[in-house]
Amino acid sequence: MKVTKAEIVISAVAEHQYPVDNLPEIVLLGRSNVGKSSFVNTLIERRGLARTSSQPGKTQTMNFYRINDLFHFVDMPGYGYAKVSKTEREKWGKMIEKYLRQRENVALIFQLMDARHEPSEDDRLMHEWLSYYGLTPVIIGTKADKISRTNQKKSINQMAKKLDLRDTREIIFFSTETKAGKEEAWNRIESVLE
Ligand code: GDP
Repeated sequence: MKVTKAEIVISAVAEHQYPVDNLPEIVLLGRSNVGKSSFVNTLIERRGLARTSSQPGKTQTMNFYRINDLFHFVDMPGYGYAKVSKTEREKWGKMIEKYLRQRENVALIFQLMDARHEPSEDDRLMHEWLSYYGLTPVIIGTKADKISRTNQKKSINQMAKKLDLRDTREIIFFSTETKAGKEEAWNRIESVLE
């Protein structure tokens, strides 16, 4: 898809702020610093639309980006960030869960995980929770340029095993550097927008 228009609609902290224009929503989930903002910026070829940050966990907001007036990317607050207080985390957990279970606009969920490591316990629990509610995500293995090609296959298999996936095709390895996985990610988006 050629992106001709990309704008931030709102950084929401409460439900009443969610957009009401009823566009399909492509949701991004993952722990802080996994590469969610970089993923959005690479897909839409805009360097600075989604904020990439070297201070993980700083942005505890749900960021809605409207793309081509056709759909929204919804960048969720990163989970598993220890420095956020427990009360704060619980508040966010509830908001995210409610959004995912009740929002009818959700068209696709990308769950991002660092391709270099085994999925964390938080990754695994989030994946299990999503699958339980029939919200099975497409897994994005980020920072794929940081592992060798030969290790990529091994790491995809490991990831699939840890997450109990039936099919390794549910995983896309992605890199902002090599643009690996970019086309595949767009294909998934386009397939739910048809
Ligand atoms: P977020 O907190 O999930 O939004 O993560 P960011 O997009 O801010 O990325 C966190 C850090 O990882 C930044 O320093 C990015 O430059 C880096 N990063 C993200 N994606 C990639 C990638 O594909 N390759 C490499 N080498 N670095 C990446």
